[in-house]
Amino acid sequence: VNVPLLTSTVDAVDGTARATTVHTPRGQIETPCFMPVGTRGAVRHLAANDLDDLGVQVVLANTYHLMMRPGAELVAELGGLHQMMAWDGHVLTDSGGFQVFSLEPKVDDDGVTFRSTYDGTRHRFTPASVVDTQRLLGADIQMVLDVCPPLPSPPNVVALAMERTAAWAQLARDAMDVHRSNGSTQALFGIVQGGIDVDLRRRSAEHTRTVGFDGYGIGGLSVGEPRHEMLPALAAALGELPTDQPRYLMGVGDPRSVVEAVGLGVDLFDCVLPTRLARHGTILTAAGRLNLRNLVHATSDEPLDPACACPVCARWSRGYLRHLLLVQEPTVARLCTIHNVHWLLRLVEEARDAVLAGTFDALRARVADRWP
Ligand SMILES: [Zn+2]
Repeated sequence: VNVPLLTSTVDAVDGTARATTVHTPRGQIETPCFMPVGTRGAVRHLAANDLDDLGVQVVLANTYHLMMRPGAELVAELGGLHQMMAWDGHVLTDSGGFQVFSLEPKVDDDGVTFRSTYDGTRHRFTPASVVDTQRLLGADIQMVLDVCPPLPSPPNVVALAMERTAAWAQLARDAMDVHRSNGSTQALFGIVQGGIDVDLRRRSAEHTRTVGFDGYGIGGLSVGEPRHEMLPALAAALGELPTDQPRYLMGVGDPRSVVEAVGLGVDLFDCVLPTRLARHGTILTAAGRLNLRNLVHATSDEPLDPACACPVCARWSRGYLRHLLLVQEPTVARLCTIHNVHWLLRLVEEARDAVLAGTFDALRARVADRWP
């Protein structure tokens, strides 16, 4: 990783917000960019042609779940994630650490041992084994294994997690350097931890940058802390990261936090929020959150969001979609998912356009007004 595989060209800045183009071996990614989550190799209710139609640039997949079913070797036998999904866009795999650390694992200096939620079998992740597993999955971008302490945790536990994350970052990079010298074109992102402590965040970011990666994830935020505690920690981390490489805020997708984070200089986001909300009939709109179950929509011939240009809003009414929701017709989950993903992708595109036009503050004020 001595020469980063990914580089960011800064297209425009507006305050600390930025619009960039990330150059990758596969092509390019325009940022800010929202990446929908396809945990097991599909964004729930969608297929790769839907992702094409929606203009998705990057999709996420989950190392833990794919390793358990169908297994990383089998994914490799099917040609890797791109060929398996028949998807030419970018794929990013997370390390699986977030899932594993929710399973009350045994953590030591070298790795983490846990039981599978699928069949109770014992497994061990090390920083190097996770790189090797993600090599088999074949994504464009890998994430390192980091330590995610339970929250809330006392400061000494957060500090220990941060130190282990730092030590593991080097081990992951060493493992990737071997693959890189054998011709791998997979990128590897480090992860900044440190909870909401501004000083820990700064130190973690500085250390991660010193190890050197193709891009930088910021993990462990938006996990229950209020936004006014998240944003200073995020800003502290961003201040220590290189400007010519991508910055990825992990697991954040609510419209307000996305726009506030863009305002601080974040490039990439992922979250299950738009797809999960869609399945429960909660709709993202220009006027804020809409609950499709509400009786007021029963006779409405309006689209989900009159300001939305998605194919669902072009064709079907709230009244029809509410009916499908109440009788649990599976089609409704697909239609609401298409709308919500489209809506969030367009919001992030609008943020890019606003940065390019120098009008980002107006966009931020508008979103803050609708999404408290
Ligand atoms: Zn729509």
